[in-house]
Amino acid sequence: MWHDRIEQRLNRGMEGPILTLSDTQARGRGQPQEQEGEANVGVEAEPTKSRAGSQGRGGGRLSGVLTRLKTRLASIGPGSATPSGILQLHLLVALVAPALMFATILFMADRQNADARATERQRATGLLTYLHDQFALEGSDSANWNEGYGAIVRIFDRDWLDGTLGPDAFGTSGYHDVFILDADGRAIYASVLGIVGNEQPADSLGPHLRHQLAAASRSTGPNGVAEYVRYGDGVALSSLTRIRPVDPVLARRGDPVRYLLLIKRFDAQTLREIGQASGFGDFRIMPPGSPDRASVPIRSGERTEVARLAWTSAAPGYASAIDVLPVALILLALLAYAGFVGASTARRRAEELLESRREALALARRDALTGLPNRRGFAATLEDALADGQGTALIYLDLDGFKDVNDAFGHAVGDALLCAAAERLASVSAIEPARFGGDEFGLLVEAGPDLLLRAGRLADRIVAAFGASFDAAGRKVYVGTSIGIAVASPGMTADELVRRADVAMYAAKSAGRGRWRVYDSASEDGRERRREIAAELRAALASGTVSVLFQPIIDADDGAIVAAEALARWNSRSFGVIDPDLFIAVAEESGQISELTRQILRQACAAGAAWRIAVSVNLSAAEVWDIAFAEELIAILSETGMVASRLILEITESHLIREAGLTAQTLMRLRALGVRIALDDFGTGYSSLRQLGTLPLDGLKLTREFLERAGGPAAQDVAEAIVGLATALRLPVTAEGIETAEQAAAMRQAGCAYLQGWHYGRPVPASELTRRLAQQPVAVSG
Ligand code: C2E
Ligand code: CA
Ligand code: CA
Repeated sequence: MWHDRIEQRLNRGMEGPILTLSDTQARGRGQPQEQEGEANVGVEAEPTKSRAGSQGRGGGRLSGVLTRLKTRLASIGPGSATPSGILQLHLLVALVAPALMFATILFMADRQNADARATERQRATGLLTYLHDQFALEGSDSANWNEGYGAIVRIFDRDWLDGTLGPDAFGTSGYHDVFILDADGRAIYASVLGIVGNEQPADSLGPHLRHQLAAASRSTGPNGVAEYVRYGDGVALSSLTRIRPVDPVLARRGDPVRYLLLIKRFDAQTLREIGQASGFGDFRIMPPGSPDRASVPIRSGERTEVARLAWTSAAPGYASAIDVLPVALILLALLAYAGFVGASTARRRAEELLESRREALALARRDALTGLPNRRGFAATLEDALADGQGTALIYLDLDGFKDVNDAFGHAVGDALLCAAAERLASVSAIEPARFGGDEFGLLVEAGPDLLLRAGRLADRIVAAFGASFDAAGRKVYVGTSIGIAVASPGMTADELVRRADVAMYAAKSAGRGRWRVYDSASEDGRERRREIAAELRAALASGTVSVLFQPIIDADDGAIVAAEALARWNSRSFGVIDPDLFIAVAEESGQISELTRQILRQACAAGAAWRIAVSVNLSAAEVWDIAFAEELIAILSETGMVASRLILEITESHLIREAGLTAQTLMRLRALGVRIALDDFGTGYSSLRQLGTLPLDGLKLTREFLERAGGPAAQDVAEAIVGLATALRLPVTAEGIETAEQAAAMRQAGCAYLQGWHYGRPVPASELTRRLAQQPVAVSG
């Protein structure tokens, strides 16, 4: 029966594999011919060949139509197989088939478009979040900076700003405008599109600023607040961060509050750049609430829509399909097919882009140098592990002597060493390590039985593996590692676990490096004690009970006292006499070192003003990296009547290593005052020898440690070599810690110009030194 055949065809057609999304995708572009053929058949509308129903998988609407068609066919019945009946049927099919095809196409196109746009919107929203996060990082990077703190907060150096953040950085930085704001949000510096000036009141920068300022002033950490804002007649990313030093020792009480406001405008060029980078091609900014479906809202920090980010959708529209329908169904079918291919291409492209964004995000969680997860990436893993509640152990390691290598051989070797260390670490353990930054790495030991035992074994393996030398850019170098282990207890935060592992790592370091320690609260006792010492030191500084002793420094030629080193002394109420090494470290940790140094300086200058010899005072990082210190020093010199040229400031190598540029800047300023600079404890890391020639130094002090090591005849040669080199650089050398006549003779023979140590005199109060100086036949000006 012919109508049965038609019905069979229709049924078969319904199973037929044409033009559904999944089929098109599965088949790809491979078989256009077949589909063209089928489309032709449809146009001829010949019932026996027609596969009009073959698009039937489109959805419920279509299958409803098909059911009705089948009912209609059935109702015509065999008995009505008259010529006019057949014609009717022909006509019906001829009309229904294109209608079905068109409906199908529209339906498909609609779904495709909706899908493609949804993916695009998701991507665009992700992109906005990504740009936002990156800009927040950019802001906090620029605002947390030792040098920046000095130049912006300590002294307000416009030239520095122009050269570093303002006009000179315009075009190369990731932002357009820079403002420095005071605590009330008033701009005290403004560089707008590379042009300086026009300091504006906060409100003209936009109403958002109040809100951002409030949020930034609440933040105690290094992070700033980034937001999308309406800016002028456009949109911008704005990041506001409190300016802080990386090393808290540099922040003084009474320093003004300053904020760094960076603006990245979403101008045509920026839109083009992000459009190209993200694969969207063109981006436009539309007013808020605009109905374009190929757009997403750009929201402010308060979640209000400031604008919309719009683009030309890669989704195929129906417009073309409608245009060609009157011309030919063939074309329609072809276009529809092309549309589907296009849609699937667009979808594929969208997926690729999504993938590339995922990669970019993954990169942000990875350390660019070693490829290991960075602190951010690790934090995510750690949070997961802690949320899991099964328990975990953190192995936290720090390379021993990395800084020495880095300084001795340069950053290229240092970087290569870090990569080699990362590789070795990965080879020892089945767990992927993470790099926390600098020379610190971490590993998370999986929960399970014998957690601590497994962690300890792994730490053993790591320590052993780090005993062998590393090949760093062709150099053979040795660095060990000190490891801290902390086990998470239920409910412990990630911060606490990291802190404990860090405490344990320091315990390992102080136990002599190259070993591991498990966190125990006894190490905290040390911390608790330091907190108490810090509190008592605060009171002592307030009451001025930290005193100073002077140790004579003698001329190696004639034995005359030519200088004295001021050494801080503190007899605390609850702890008695505290070792200077300890209370100085506590003062540094607790932000009191600059006050302590000021008091020592004042006492030393007051005493020294009455003498005819030089006075030597020890500085800490808080002064050496503080660009405003020179001004404070001027005040102290004039207050005490001390002559600048008789003041020697002692700095240590660690200052040079960590912030070479900043140190050189402050030293220049100090030297411009006529003060002399000596490099203290020289010899602990021969590393900075190569820097010596370029630094504004007036002398070296050989470390006491060096003297202890020096005992044998070989050591004498080393001492002579070092002194010879220093002398060639016109840096007279002082030998410290001379306890015996033999040591004195050896150091004199090595070529040291000055000698200091118990052999010549212990540190004594100023009055005692005055007495000794009075006995000295000639007061020599040092
Ligand atoms: P430093 O600057 O290397 O000071 C020399 C240290 O060697 C002093 O220890 C001194 O008492 C000690 N010393 C002198 N001669 C001999 C000797 O013949 N044999 C031995 N074994 N030791 C000798 P002190 O006073 O305990 O100071 C320790 C460190 O504390 C100083 O090392 C310095 O780094 C720091 N320091 C002391 N006073 C101040 C200060 O006012 N400010 C800062 N920032 N640091 C200070
Ligand atoms: Ca010293
Ligand atoms: Ca010293």
